Amino acid sequence: MGVDALMRVETDKLYTPKKVRKLAARLHDCFGDVCWVTRPDKYYPEGSHCLEIVADRPKLVIDVNLSCRYYGEGYERGPLVKLLGIASWLERNIRGASIFYGGDCDLDLQPFGSDVRDDLWEYYCSRGHEDYRGYSLSKRTEPNCDFCSVQLRDCGGGGGKTFLYCGGCGLKIIEESGAYSELRKYSDFFKPDIVGEWKPLD
Ligand SMILES: [Zn+2]
Repeated sequence: MGVDALMRVETDKLYTPKKVRKLAARLHDCFGDVCWVTRPDKYYPEGSHCLEIVADRPKLVIDVNLSCRYYGEGYERGPLVKLLGIASWLERNIRGASIFYGGDCDLDLQPFGSDVRDDLWEYYCSRGHEDYRGYSLSKRTEPNCDFCSVQLRDCGGGGGKTFLYCGGCGLKIIEESGAYSELRKYSDFFKPDIVGEWKPLD
């Protein structure tokens, strides 16, 4: 189970549902499928936009429907550059907008104004996704990639095997009992096409 990103806009200004849906189409145009729009069909008669009004008093509250993981300190996973871009876009396109942001594990979303976003951007520039160890319960240290010198990431496994991945070059390794096997590029961890034994960078 991952933590999904949530975002919300509040404003004192009046916007009709039609106007908000128009903005949603433009938001999707700028950021792609992270901000999704679903046309009405027989299964989903109302359809859905990436911006939907969920309350209109005392303030207008607009949910931003995102299909991506959250990024924050302690969960360095989601596409932060897009999330910052979306927040900035919303401020520029919705008059009087206050932005709130969090993960779907949080009860309350937190204010996500430009100061908070600058701090998170600073954090992202120094750490990126390196600290994310979402699948690993143990805090063991993984070996470094022999090509990029960055630590490989634990991205799952089972049955005594650990799947390791390099965020730089995309190297995929399966570790079992201290032995490392390298997978062919684009090979699936669950249907591994093994190239041969791999030696970590000392
Ligand atoms: Zn690498």
